[in-house]
Amino acid sequence: MSPTHPANINVAAALAEAQDEYRRRNPKSLAQYEAACAALPGGNTRHSIYAEPFPLTMVRGDGARLWDADGHEYLDFLSEFTAGLYGHSHPLIRRALDQALDTGWNMGAQGPAEARFAAAICARFPSIDLVRFTNSGTEANLMAVSLARAVTDREKILVFKGGYHGGVFYFRGKGSRVNAPFEFLVAQYNDIPGTRAIVAPHAHDLAAILIEPMLGGSGCIPAAPEFLADLRALASETGAILIFDEVMTSRLSPGGLQEALGILPDMTTLGKYVGGGMSFGAFGGKASLMEWFDPRRKDGFQHAGTFNNNVLTMNAGLVGLTEIYTPERARTLNRFGEGLRERLNAVVRGRGLSMQFTGLGSMIGVHMTDAPIRCEADAARGNAGLLDLFYFDLLARGVWIAKRGMMALSIALDAADADKLIAAVEEFAESRGPLFAGLSGG
Ligand code: PMP
Repeated sequence: MSPTHPANINVAAALAEAQDEYRRRNPKSLAQYEAACAALPGGNTRHSIYAEPFPLTMVRGDGARLWDADGHEYLDFLSEFTAGLYGHSHPLIRRALDQALDTGWNMGAQGPAEARFAAAICARFPSIDLVRFTNSGTEANLMAVSLARAVTDREKILVFKGGYHGGVFYFRGKGSRVNAPFEFLVAQYNDIPGTRAIVAPHAHDLAAILIEPMLGGSGCIPAAPEFLADLRALASETGAILIFDEVMTSRLSPGGLQEALGILPDMTTLGKYVGGGMSFGAFGGKASLMEWFDPRRKDGFQHAGTFNNNVLTMNAGLVGLTEIYTPERARTLNRFGEGLRERLNAVVRGRGLSMQFTGLGSMIGVHMTDAPIRCEADAARGNAGLLDLFYFDLLARGVWIAKRGMMALSIALDAADADKLIAAVEEFAESRGPLFAGLSGG
């Protein structure tokens, strides 16, 4: 597309043209969406996958590829927001599920897989002595925070702007009216003095510090190691429980980001890929904390859940962690991600575009600004229209990412797939480059 093409006059015009093309290409997804609106509010049961003017309906996945209702093929660079780490229909996961289905799945009893799966998690993540399963990351965080409040007999929970810990723990933008009714203190990510100033008047009532060691949903913004180390010190000084939400980041090294950084929380929450691609959450930590859930203990706390040990998740998760995403495989995938991010940044830097790719290892954030990004406010300075345009342009080139500008790698992606992503980003940079000139965000 030449710089004089009408679509290159401004971002809004280019976006309108890209959306028209999207409507034209996807009539079946549109029909599917309109049908969904009859019974789901806004046709949606999960905000993160909604997209204007309407979301695509995916009908099939295989390896690193997806197909939509209108028959277009995509390279899956989203990997179900990190949960799809194993790619689509991994044969070992499939075998584990088939075996589980062969022996039945609603026993109302303990099964053989859960103890082995729990042992694999405890062996893998250094801060986890004992673990309990839930059905989602949201629930895992609810349990971890509730345990912290109960054992400390305190009320306040320190969280961070841009943090996301589940449907009732939303701290992006202006937050959410349907958050769980805890007493939250909200500090700026990566701001040590600001965080300490917010905590100071409440130090004796601080039950927990809940943090993603890298902001995931807010754009793959890593915490500075010294910031996390200071939170570790702050928790120890105040007697608060430090909880790392590693629902996304646990994939970043064999033992999660905590292991890579050598900073251990008191508790860790997990989710996403750890359940082998099935519904999953887990919370775990020091034995002295988790033993409160020992049912033999008369003064202990309750924790139940019909599907906490559902056989599909227990079997798929066990095989995934022990036979597929081995420590060596975790290192390889994250090295692959580092290399890819460097190449992506070289593409946009080489053309002087105010655009960058953030993140660590196999998680990548896309931002339409070249200024340093250390917190949500920095990310918000990126140009929103260009980010939308990037999404539609990549879709048109057969690359599937999150509309908000997030990518996560699966082990099904290979070097040729990485080259195709690079080529798509090069084409975007080439054709849309003129739109960047003179823009300073928005
Ligand atoms: N914590 C983080 C960091 C997450 O990214 C998510 C999900 N995106 C959650 C918690 C919630 O997990 P779930 O969607 O399984 O409830």
